[in-house]
Amino acid sequence: MKSHLKLMIIVALILVINSINAQTNTAPLNSSIPIEMLFPQGKSKALILSFDDGQVADKHLVKLMNDYGLVGTFHLNSNKLGTKDYLTKEEIKTLYKGHEVSGHTANHPGLTTLSKIDVIYEVVEDRKELERLMGYPVRGMSYPFGNTNDFVIEAITGLGIEYARTVGDTYNFSMPTEYLKWQPTIHLFGKTNYIPNDTANDKRELEQFYQLTTDFLEANSLALFYVWGHSWEYEGPENKWEEVEKFFKMISQNPEIYYTTQIGLVDYSNAFKNLKFSVNKDMVTNVSSIDVFVKIGGKVYTIEAGSTKQLN
Ligand SMILES: [Zn+2]
Repeated sequence: MKSHLKLMIIVALILVINSINAQTNTAPLNSSIPIEMLFPQGKSKALILSFDDGQVADKHLVKLMNDYGLVGTFHLNSNKLGTKDYLTKEEIKTLYKGHEVSGHTANHPGLTTLSKIDVIYEVVEDRKELERLMGYPVRGMSYPFGNTNDFVIEAITGLGIEYARTVGDTYNFSMPTEYLKWQPTIHLFGKTNYIPNDTANDKRELEQFYQLTTDFLEANSLALFYVWGHSWEYEGPENKWEEVEKFFKMISQNPEIYYTTQIGLVDYSNAFKNLKFSVNKDMVTNVSSIDVFVKIGGKVYTIEAGSTKQLN
């Protein structure tokens, strides 16, 4: 009985010592350390330029963008192409080379007033025709008039639309939380077009726009500047082409900025979300075909496409 007790005490001691050793030998879990996304090349700023409708004024806009090395996403109404003031079906493939062509519905109706089948028709018909004209899958859209609601979002879910933009300006640089309810930062010189000959309003709009541009250029944390508009607005009563060019000059050729199409940012962001971390967060696998840049505990890592990396 005595020796049995002794044995039990020895076993208990061994267990205690082992558990102390185990505690001191195991690396602390890093679950509390945030893993932050950076943009490609470790950049912290991204710019999206997005324009709706596909009218003939896009020719001038695209030329300006190409001159300044800027890339854009253009949302088109396939049934409007070839009608008055719109581009022809034959010219869009060449014009938008190097940019993204995206949907804007076939006929530009306010989607919130339609039946479900009509919403689906407008979106799928537009996708199908734009895909035929461009030669690649069309994967996003912007809502005509910016109009959407839960009914419309439910109707377009499952139609191959991975993002959809509204016109609800946020005036900030945050990443979207819902891709099908993507709110842009600011309208590019749009308001003055609808309220012409109002100097005070014009001045206010320009000041607000350039202040936001300056804030973006000076931002220190992750910042997405999403600028949207229509090329035809710059030809209206308040001709804004000079201002558009001034903005392009301010924002272009900046090594701190990741210039991207909207689908480019969706793909990158999905590659980040799809990183596979080990339990201890000391290893990560990038299953995508895109190099992903992350910041962990203040340190920047490049996780090359298709690779597994040790983090330290
Ligand atoms: Zn539109």
